[in-house]
Amino acid sequence: MPFDTELTRRLGIKVPIVQGGMQYVGYAELAAAVSNAGGLGILTALTQPTPDDLRKEIQKTRTMTKNPFGVNITLLPTLQPPDYGAYAQAVIDEGIKIVETAGNSPGPVITKLKKAGVIILHKCTTIRHAQSAIKLGVDFLSIDGFECAGHVGESDITNFILLSKARQTLKVPFIASGGFADGQGLAAALCLGAEGINMGTRFMCTVEAPIHQKIKEEIVKAQETDTALVMRRWTNTTRLYRNKVTDAVIKIERDSKTGEFAEIAPYVSGKRGRQVFTNGDPDYGVWTAGQVIGLIHDIPTCDVLVKRIEKEAEETLTSKLKLAKPKLSLHPAI
Ligand code: NAD
Repeated sequence: MPFDTELTRRLGIKVPIVQGGMQYVGYAELAAAVSNAGGLGILTALTQPTPDDLRKEIQKTRTMTKNPFGVNITLLPTLQPPDYGAYAQAVIDEGIKIVETAGNSPGPVITKLKKAGVIILHKCTTIRHAQSAIKLGVDFLSIDGFECAGHVGESDITNFILLSKARQTLKVPFIASGGFADGQGLAAALCLGAEGINMGTRFMCTVEAPIHQKIKEEIVKAQETDTALVMRRWTNTTRLYRNKVTDAVIKIERDSKTGEFAEIAPYVSGKRGRQVFTNGDPDYGVWTAGQVIGLIHDIPTCDVLVKRIEKEAEETLTSKLKLAKPKLSLHPAI
């Protein structure tokens, strides 16, 4: 096993790569493929219409991989508030041992999951939120830089600062999220003090990602400048793939006299956005993508991708940096 970090040891995975939760992407097919490749695949709870559907998706994933996989529970504003407690209960009942949490006021959900012995990776975009999550007893932080897809937070700190600040200040191990697509990125994250990386957009552009081929091709064509930030006015800033719909949202957000969320709701609705993934029209609705979209140039299987990242990281940490070949047992060996 070339990589031996706190993350691989605690989660029982081979490669320190987590596939982050992605609404309407994190189904069994992708989670199982990532776990089979040696990383940690993650199902996205709210992608399932009900907690019972989540139970079925967990059972389906179990038939597709024998390796560990997790579930993401994100607590952010929604047009129809879900019963987070019931989703957490489904996770516990199905024997899931790893959960990625994200969003606001995660206390009750984290407490419930911790009582059931679940390992929590909590995603956050500020050190202050990381400190609060540590008080709740989380096992890992997933430090999410401003480069990331989806909910970027409101303080706009990119990973070069955020990861080192995490290393300097946090007493709990962390992984790096936002801006990762290759082994050079993994090597850099480990050097900055992370125990592994989280990738979302990169995994959307794999053979097994259950989204339309045309969207994967759109990702391959895209540049790092092709994302847009919306919803800052409602303190829910979100990075999306820039398209006709985000242009319309930005205009309303700038010009609206009322500032009512209802004015943009039909544009940013997840129901509409998910159809992008089935009809293949990148302009049909909103869909999340990180700035890393500019670094993605192919559509490999998860297995090919994870193996390539592992090899690139190993080469970067050895021959490229001209160090004596380390055992890659990171922290403090590096
Ligand atoms: P949705 O259709 O309910 O809402 C669409 C978007 O508007 C979301 O970004 C949501 O956060 C935002 N929103 C809704 N009401 C709002 C309000 N009153 N004020 C400010 N912003 C508001 O969302 P969906 O696409 O069905 O997703 C369900 C939930 O999952 C949302 O909270 C969404 O943000 C979250 N999500 C999770 C992931 C993940 O990785 N797990 C990824 C994307 C989105």
